[in-house]
Amino acid sequence: MRRYVIAGNWKMNNTPDATRAFAEALAPKIAGKDGCDVVLCVPFVDIAAAVEATRGTRIRVGAQNVHYEPKGAYTGEISAEMLLAVGAEYVIIGHSERRTYFGETDATVNLRTKAALAAGLKVILCVGEVKEQRLSGITDEVVRMQIKLDLAGVTAEEMKNVIIAYEPVWAIGTGLTATPEQADETCGVIRRVLGELYGAEIAGATVIQYGGSMNEKNAADLLGKENVDGGLIGGASLKPDAFAVIVEAANA
Ligand code: PEP
Repeated sequence: MRRYVIAGNWKMNNTPDATRAFAEALAPKIAGKDGCDVVLCVPFVDIAAAVEATRGTRIRVGAQNVHYEPKGAYTGEISAEMLLAVGAEYVIIGHSERRTYFGETDATVNLRTKAALAAGLKVILCVGEVKEQRLSGITDEVVRMQIKLDLAGVTAEEMKNVIIAYEPVWAIGTGLTATPEQADETCGVIRRVLGELYGAEIAGATVIQYGGSMNEKNAADLLGKENVDGGLIGGASLKPDAFAVIVEAANA
């Protein structure tokens, strides 16, 4: 009943020209592989090029952040309405790099999430523990707390447009990957919290991705787990061949 979603997070990589070249390379490699949704979350300045270059393909386009106010004196920020106007359908919120380097907190993640959903964007909400928290055995508590705080005030109806990305921070960009069992277990914890908040039906229908050094070699094992419904992929999403193999794994 859940459909896999494979999303690339390009971070601060690629110009509009490189975006067009990437889309042209990727589209034929994943043509006909309709068993999952494919999203590219690109830098703001690449969104228009990505939308144009993927028109008529099954690739959807997303951003990597959004501001929570609709407009105003917020130098350097981008609103949900602006993202929709250039054709973005998705937005990543609460990525650990934003939390670590740019002062993002659960409170601002919550504001962004509510604003994005109210405007009509689909949200990929990132949660996950740092290494010390996993080693201390408090991973479950950390993700439970993040989910509750980040989704506070999000309605059951709005949950149709929410994807959760479980991203252990120690696995992002490090080449370290959670084992399929660890990924499944913590995605399962997240599903249980969603059940407590929204009931079994919504918990069962919500897509929960794993992210953290997922690549063309480990994707099939991770995606084979019951509670892992897709991937949020950084480094490997910059290579059309590798990304296409991951999409293929989600179709198997
Ligand atoms: C990410 O940026 O969300 C991510 C998981 O990166 P990587 O795949 O490079 O670890």
